Amino acid sequence: MAQIFCIANQKGGVGKTTTSVNLAAALANIGQRVLLVDMDPQGNATMGSGVDKHALEASVYEVLIGQAELAQARQRSAKAGYDLIGANRELAGAEVELVSLPQRERRLKTALATVDADYDFILIDSPPALGLLTLNGLCAAHGVIVPMQCEYFALEGLSDLVNTIKQVHANLNRDLRIIGLLRVMFDPRITLQQQVSEQIKNHFGDKVFNTVIPRNVRLAEAPSYGLPGVVFDPSSRGAKAFTEFAQEMVDRLAVAA
Ligand code: ADP
Ligand code: MG
Repeated sequence: MAQIFCIANQKGGVGKTTTSVNLAAALANIGQRVLLVDMDPQGNATMGSGVDKHALEASVYEVLIGQAELAQARQRSAKAGYDLIGANRELAGAEVELVSLPQRERRLKTALATVDADYDFILIDSPPALGLLTLNGLCAAHGVIVPMQCEYFALEGLSDLVNTIKQVHANLNRDLRIIGLLRVMFDPRITLQQQVSEQIKNHFGDKVFNTVIPRNVRLAEAPSYGLPGVVFDPSSRGAKAFTEFAQEMVDRLAVAA
């Protein structure tokens, strides 16, 4: 049975996709079987895994609306080392089309159940909104990983997400819990970031991952080569941090089991 994690934060540009592709690649590097599901119509996780979002035979969109089986939409990202369900602009339509379909929040969960046994980890990259696409991710997942920047309004923005997670837990998915907050794009030279990082730790305690992902230009460059940073430049500080993060995830789950 795969452990299924949704990478979510309703803000855009906070590092969700970077976390998704690099955690996927780093887990694959340490021998885990990984499936990454791109649930964002921007298709950045698809392109960042070296798969052309304009040339998908079937995408997560067809899977959600019942026009394709999940196994048909799945493809191997050979360089990145994991399997991918891709997305592109078509997926934006699903937000509306899902409304009138039965079990609209649970369609990803139902689809993933068909391939669950093939993986140790299934990661879901979310769009920057708390709509039906993110809801499908949260309903399918055992846990949420929340990437966040250590900026002044970071905590304020979190309350909407935390409330949504509570509601999903109460009404739709009793398994769901916050696995942890991941501090990303961290620059220790900036005093404010250090202060906010401390605040986050005081407020959320052991829900904060020990690993901190530094701001590192190699992580930002990697997508233009169609590679996760972990594969693009394994010796970079960013890649090393994601490798450490993958190990921390595996260790945390071993303790929880
Ligand atoms: P989201 O998926 O939440 O919108 P992204 O992962 O796409 O966020 O990140 C937003 C931008 O920040 C991208 O251009 C990405 O390359 C860059 N970025 C993300 N994490 C880092 C990092 N640790 N260091 C440097 N740049 C980063
Ligand atoms: Mg993204």
